[in-house]
Amino acid sequence: MSTSLVTVAYIAAIMLFIMSLGGLSNPETSRRGNLYGMIGMGLAVLATIFGPRVTAAGIPWIIGAMVAGGAIGLYAARTVQMTQMPELVALMHSLVGLAACAVGFASYIDPTSVASFSDAEKTIHHVEVYVGILIGAVTFSGSIIAFLKLSGKLGGKPLLLPARHWLNLIGLIVVIVFGYQFMKAPSIEAGMVPLIVMTTIALLFGIHMVMAIGGADMPVVVSMLNSYSGWAAAATGFMLSNDLLIVVGALVGSSGAILSFIMCQAMNRNFISVIAGGFGGGAPAPSSGAAAEPVGEVVPVNAAETAELLHDAKSVIIVPGYGMAVAQAQHTVYEITKTLREKKINVRFGIHPVAGRMPGHMNVLLAEAKVPYDIVLEMDEINDDFADTDVVMVIGANDIVNPAAQDDPTSPIAGMPVLEVWKAKTTIVMKRSMASGYAGVDNPLFYKDNNRMLFGDAKKMLDEVLTVLRR
Ligand code: NDP
Repeated sequence: MSTSLVTVAYIAAIMLFIMSLGGLSNPETSRRGNLYGMIGMGLAVLATIFGPRVTAAGIPWIIGAMVAGGAIGLYAARTVQMTQMPELVALMHSLVGLAACAVGFASYIDPTSVASFSDAEKTIHHVEVYVGILIGAVTFSGSIIAFLKLSGKLGGKPLLLPARHWLNLIGLIVVIVFGYQFMKAPSIEAGMVPLIVMTTIALLFGIHMVMAIGGADMPVVVSMLNSYSGWAAAATGFMLSNDLLIVVGALVGSSGAILSFIMCQAMNRNFISVIAGGFGGGAPAPSSGAAAEPVGEVVPVNAAETAELLHDAKSVIIVPGYGMAVAQAQHTVYEITKTLREKKINVRFGIHPVAGRMPGHMNVLLAEAKVPYDIVLEMDEINDDFADTDVVMVIGANDIVNPAAQDDPTSPIAGMPVLEVWKAKTTIVMKRSMASGYAGVDNPLFYKDNNRMLFGDAKKMLDEVLTVLRR
């Protein structure tokens, strides 16, 4: 394949990726968006393999790597549970970071990669290698820690080392000083020392950065690492002089940055303070005395009573959370919605931006269960309607409906906008126990007079509710 044909294929792939991002912005067009992305990626891979930069001797290696990688990817896609998706995504981000590091070291060690370069081009290439490995290493180690936190293998409490900001600053200065030495190194061997020192510092920085972020701020970290993985891919593109990788990396990097911003807004957090760490782990702030302490007892109900409450309602709002994903209850939720709508009851869904464990988690599950998009509303669209609602059914959600975010300035989630479900006539919270949610904080909603608790696995309980409703 000639260079110009490869360029044409790359431009087509870039257009498909942009159309893919456009499609993914709306649930109704997201399938099409995915399809565009897959075609774009297929085109990009084929154009790269059959392009002028790959020699015949390299083809078996590429095919071998693709078969191995494809088999692992296929196995992971088939076996991973929907609830494990966020961890899987974090793990995938770490691989992008690792790839950037590997490409960086390889293109530095391989003298043929700069053989035809002028001195100025060599300098630029070395800067690309240094910065590329830096971003790659931070992405790699940060994503591994995010994976461990999301999968519950590491606790959500932020690790707050004394003088942690100073440690980061010293790390940055050392990276700059060693960067200067790297650029001045007379040989590849001499350059390896500063490169390895910088990589070690970048790896430690990635670990430290994510360890310092508390449970409640993890959604921002997930989207931020998404963005970093894009910049790591763009850095790889610079090192390999591959325009497609640069553009795609920049697309992922900037869309991840926009997502981080949206998540910050959704949680009422300042991006810089999230990155600086220390929030969301239960570190108490001085109390104003207005703390929402849980008082009283909870009122349990059974499935039949829940069905009765739903049956007698004119308007119902369903608020799904992480527990619905764990229980895989979305299909039963759809059946209940259908049954209630047939009884002329107005049923809608209230979706919090950080519900579940990844951006858009609930939308994906509801779309999978074929819940009509027009009754699935964002928090801003529905928050004013709770006061006029008869029954709110909270399915496996906890932090996103916690009134302490508004009432208790000492709460780790203080200031986070929440769905104001307690304003409805009756709320029914479905969960298995009195355990707290991801942020590890108690929820005063459970003790309110108008709240009922339906204890049990969400799928099992909803199946029982559906059976009674259909009678
Ligand atoms: P929470 O984690 O606050 O609460 C989920 C609740 O579901 C738990 O209290 C649990 O209670 C219940 N549950 C678990 N399994 C079941 C089951 N099988 N049946 C019924 N209930 C079940 O989830 P929310 O969605 O309310 O909030 C999301 C939280 O996750 C926020 O704190 C957010 O910051 C964080 N987060 C979000 C990310 C994102 O991108 N969306 C990423 C990372 C973190 P019990 O054990 O008693 O059943």
